[in-house]
Amino acid sequence: MTLLVQSSCSYLYKRLLIGGVPPVCYKSSMPHVLSPSKITAWMACEHYLTLKFRADESARRRGFGNSDQSKTNEEIKTSADGDLVISPPKDFSDLLQKKGILHELECLKRYQEEYSNQGVVFEVDQADWQGGESFKGWTDRVGDPNPLEVGYPVIFQMPFIHNGIRGIADFLKEKGGTYEPVDSKLSRTGAKPGHLLQLLFYAEAVEANPAISERPEEVHVDLGSGESQSFKVSKFWWYWKHLRQKLEKVVEIGGKAETEPKKCSFCGMCEFRNKCFSEWKEKDSLILLSGSHSTHREALEEAGITTLRGLAELPKRTLQVLLDEQESNASEFFMSLDMEEEIEADFCQVMPEVNDGVFQDVKPDLKIRHLIRLWKQARLQLIAREKNLAIKDCPVHLFSKTEMIEKMEGRQGWKKGETLLHLPERSDYDIYLDFEGHPFLTAKEGIIFLFGYLEKVNGEWVYVSRWSHDVVTGNPSKDREKEEARNLVRFFHQRWKESKENGADMHVYHYNHTERSLMAELTTDTSHASHIVDIFGQLFGAEVSSEDLSDRKLLDELIENGVFVDLLATVRNSLQAGLESYSLKLMEQLAGFDREHDEEASENFQVVGDLVSSEISGSQEVSDGSGAVLRYELYANHKLYGQERDESHLDEIAKYNKEDVDATQALHKWLLKMRSESEHLSNEVAKLSADPEISIGGWVTKRIDNLKDEILKRVSA
Ligand code: SF4
Repeated sequence: MTLLVQSSCSYLYKRLLIGGVPPVCYKSSMPHVLSPSKITAWMACEHYLTLKFRADESARRRGFGNSDQSKTNEEIKTSADGDLVISPPKDFSDLLQKKGILHELECLKRYQEEYSNQGVVFEVDQADWQGGESFKGWTDRVGDPNPLEVGYPVIFQMPFIHNGIRGIADFLKEKGGTYEPVDSKLSRTGAKPGHLLQLLFYAEAVEANPAISERPEEVHVDLGSGESQSFKVSKFWWYWKHLRQKLEKVVEIGGKAETEPKKCSFCGMCEFRNKCFSEWKEKDSLILLSGSHSTHREALEEAGITTLRGLAELPKRTLQVLLDEQESNASEFFMSLDMEEEIEADFCQVMPEVNDGVFQDVKPDLKIRHLIRLWKQARLQLIAREKNLAIKDCPVHLFSKTEMIEKMEGRQGWKKGETLLHLPERSDYDIYLDFEGHPFLTAKEGIIFLFGYLEKVNGEWVYVSRWSHDVVTGNPSKDREKEEARNLVRFFHQRWKESKENGADMHVYHYNHTERSLMAELTTDTSHASHIVDIFGQLFGAEVSSEDLSDRKLLDELIENGVFVDLLATVRNSLQAGLESYSLKLMEQLAGFDREHDEEASENFQVVGDLVSSEISGSQEVSDGSGAVLRYELYANHKLYGQERDESHLDEIAKYNKEDVDATQALHKWLLKMRSESEHLSNEVAKLSADPEISIGGWVTKRIDNLKDEILKRVSA
């Protein structure tokens, strides 16, 4: 069987990247055609649509239909064994797109099985993009005869053009004389607002179809989890109508709209990200100020501070007055406006015109402590930029001891220890840990496919990789993943006990909290009963040997005793650097760590900060997490791509993962060096103050309390 499925550059824009001309029922005064995906993107960022309209206008001037001429058809074949075969993904977004298509086909299969007694599920003949067919031409061809009029129980991939919007409904299910639209989405946790809007458009188009003339009652989303979510159209109709009116105005203004690029969660996936980054660079936007949130930027902009330079230029005197006003004796903590002498001298050198003794009457509506941190960050980034410093030479400002203590205010137990003050010294028992995960190994499940770490064996640091697949078959499984996580916890616990017996220390270092959180997830018994039995068993004094403790309990014990150390949290609570982001890729360079292959990728990261990951392809070395995902996809799902299993993918992933754990170790060493060289910090590891929550067994008390709360809530509900 050969099935042609419409495809394009990005899964997110799957229905957006299709060429076409104005449709029959398209308002002739409307200069642009929208798609549901474009509308979804517009809801996240108004500027996106402005740029899209401008790109369309420019394409038309150059004689193209619009800017979306990169359409292709994805060919899916069936192998001799009956398995689907698809071309290998070129990059991460291509991978996501393919996963979306496969999920769509899974749903199609389900409908074919479900409706086998009621006649065929009608599969709309695909558009011939390569042959130059337009969307309008395709819609006309599909509409003759109109599949909605024929009365199929289910219609797959029905194209619509209606009132200036066009799109392709994954499925239409006949119900009560009309058709209810269904979209298949990779999301597992639930439909997103954009999904619902797409469906409301299809509902409107179905109602407008002369063969139907009736609004469907419900729309549905077939989630990646295998579950289906339904929405009453009547509940959301007003919103759709309101949105449509707004959109008509937006379309009329088109590319002339005076919108601004604003950083949002959509930027990392946006086709215009490079353009917007260039604009932010050029305008010296506060968006590139590390640690600034949109609320910070709004407050600064309202006060007339619109650039990073503008913030850095604020004289110290202004900050001092604001600090005195807001905090007159209110805080027991002292916050200094000064940074290290060398940094102060560098700032005077790059900004000699700034007179710190002058008062400038500016009052951003921000907490003074936040303002001071952002102001220092701006000065650090400005020094790095004006002096054109390499990342390794960027200025670093250490917080004072009181600032670090203040940052730990209100924290409990081990969480009080996430600063340089408490960073443990190195030990031969230490572990440096990093996981690699694939979010969409299948539509239903993601997986942590590699647990990589460094440990010292016979005096040598050794890299260990534990994989979540069978070594013989190469097949990954969730059982295997869980088993590896549990083995790792037992290994850590055993090593920790051994270190204590030998009067030594042992810690597990990682960058970001994800490793710790994922281990907690993977070692949590799904059976709540076992927890209750364990906990109440202990409560009533039952003897519980360590063998009886579940792996989750072992992990809890390690966590509560501060064995896991998140170096990202330590960095954030201890210092500021002249970097646009505090990602490991930048911090490791500051620590003097050189990746073997990664110079180009590192440069990209400095340019784009933590917003965009560089593109990768199967032929390149793995240079970031998405590259590792792509390699593992090719390894684990090789049959899907018509390939032999290739062990070299695992070597490349392990090489990349090893560099991450090496970098984590280098960062630990560097942080310790910073502490020992600092004049105001003690080189001794500060002891955490006594706290009942961190005593051994404290975790049991805490979980019993949680459980009691839960039971009481349910009883009184
Ligand atoms: S990169 Fe971000 S700001 Fe720019 S258009 Fe895309 S979503 Fe909008």
